[in-house]
Amino acid sequence: MIGLVSATAAGRRARDRLAAAWPGAVRVYGTGGEGGADGAGTVREAVTRAFAECDRLVCFLATGATVRLIAPLLADKADDPGVVCVDEAQQYAVALLGGHAGGANDLAHAVAEALPGCRPVVTTATDAAGVPGLDTLGLPVEGSVAMVSRAMLDGEPVRLVRHHVLPLPALPPNVTEATGNATEGDGGDGGNSGEGTDGGYTLLVTDRAVAPGDRTAVLRPPTLAVGVGASRGVPAEEVAALVGQALADAGLSPLSVTELATVEAKAGEEGIVEAARRLGVPLRTYPAGELAAVPVPHPSDAPLAAVGTPSVAEAAALLACGEGAELVVPKRKSAPEGRAAMATCAVARRRPRGRLAVVGLGPGARDLLTPRARDELRRASVVVGLDQYVDQIRDLLRPGTRVLESGLGAEEERSRTAVAEARAGRAVALIGSGDAGVYAMASPALAEASADIDVVGVPGVTAALAAAALLGAPLGHDHVSISLSDLHTPWEVIERRVRAAAESDLVVTFYNPRSRGRDWQLPKALALLAEHRAPHTPAGIVRNASRPGERTTVTTLGELDPAAVDMMTVVTVGNTATRTVAGRMVTPRGYRWQESR
Ligand code: SAH
Repeated sequence: MIGLVSATAAGRRARDRLAAAWPGAVRVYGTGGEGGADGAGTVREAVTRAFAECDRLVCFLATGATVRLIAPLLADKADDPGVVCVDEAQQYAVALLGGHAGGANDLAHAVAEALPGCRPVVTTATDAAGVPGLDTLGLPVEGSVAMVSRAMLDGEPVRLVRHHVLPLPALPPNVTEATGNATEGDGGDGGNSGEGTDGGYTLLVTDRAVAPGDRTAVLRPPTLAVGVGASRGVPAEEVAALVGQALADAGLSPLSVTELATVEAKAGEEGIVEAARRLGVPLRTYPAGELAAVPVPHPSDAPLAAVGTPSVAEAAALLACGEGAELVVPKRKSAPEGRAAMATCAVARRRPRGRLAVVGLGPGARDLLTPRARDELRRASVVVGLDQYVDQIRDLLRPGTRVLESGLGAEEERSRTAVAEARAGRAVALIGSGDAGVYAMASPALAEASADIDVVGVPGVTAALAAAALLGAPLGHDHVSISLSDLHTPWEVIERRVRAAAESDLVVTFYNPRSRGRDWQLPKALALLAEHRAPHTPAGIVRNASRPGERTTVTTLGELDPAAVDMMTVVTVGNTATRTVAGRMVTPRGYRWQESR
């Protein structure tokens, strides 16, 4: 819950804006009335109550006032709520307290987005310097997190020891990987290799239950799933104790467990549901038929009779971990005192997977780069792309990001490199302008990619859309993009498609319309359209949409000058219903409009 505290009329207006933007997520404190003589007292009470009841606070108060009010309430970095202050003019959302752990940095960004003209102010060192905060990686961390973070930031040597491949973002150059430790999928020798034996700082990535030394931070990768089976009425105690003991005996950390898994018939079994809650993980269930199909070392008749699969615990753990999963704890039974066991559990470990993000950067302007694309760029440790696209976003990359750029043409090689890096377990961003799936890298890359990596696509604003927005509303009805490049496609095919578009009266956007060596294709394509459209049909030329040197020309099919077109350009030709209105191209949404005229 986010507590909102305000004292002035302007503050209350901003507060109401946030309350409207985040319905259900906020609670309003104090000064519902007009403040008045007891204003200060009311605000103190409001802050005190909000501080106790909420996990984050937005105070529409000066930082000084807020500091004085919260100072006596501060207890502990781990428990105190994150506090953001917003000034009277709502120009700044200042993350005042609990930047990382309290979520104030994120909240400052969210507030700034919800209040027009407001900017986030974040002073936490790790965010400011582009070094990823260890507590912001979306993974559980333990040990000396603050110390190791500070060492990373101060440029002191930090040893990275990975027991598992894990696609991490770029880490600064003072963090160096200790070689020979990436023992993915090992049987768990239980040793605490990777502890800071040399007294230096260590960042350890492991699902093993190690006791971190005072200069070691441990990142817990999401590697484990626990399968459970139980008879009806099993006590939560029994399930929880069994799971805890199984993990402890195997030397595994509960923080690396991502889910409890069982058969669908047990979805409502209170003891299992409660055990998952205690472990802080979701409960996932599978149909008996799916579980029955999983080969397991210890099938048995009892669950077959009861729920229709010879294995619940082992099969569910393996299924939850997907292809290549390894059973690290075979089925074991609970051992309650004085009665028969009611629960079984097993633990599986996933095969580590690299990550390939295929990221569209938009046409050029920074504000047409989506927040999601930006996040993916900062999440990557390797960026692969054409040099001119890398230039578009180089400043956004974390220091230490490995950039594999290449010139035009080397597409196959670029895709292969990106996939190979992801298969090696890295976090890779393959970038392209506009949308990376439109005449770009997504298809050659995914044609190469195997099922053993995670792939995420981030859509981007295409050149066609950026151009359309500049031209008016040319895409108001059915439309098509056609590339005039005959580099990968024979001209006969292109011509056939242009003819089809002409005949079916589609609005057409030509990509790759004309280059020095390819100058006859555009006039030819326009001539084909002219067989079905009048010379006065509106047409637009957009060069460098949303980039420096942007130029937009609205003309007609008859008057379009191919010499004004090059490879930085798209050409959009309207259909027979497209009109020019006040200098803008407008394609009506339907043909009825035409009939009624
Ligand atoms: N993936 C890109 C297209 C790449 S093909 C997208 O989704 O937009 C390259 C062609 O796109 C160029 O030859 C040009 O025709 C067009 N193009 C790309 N960016 C452009 C821009 N900012 N302005 C105009 N045309 C652009």
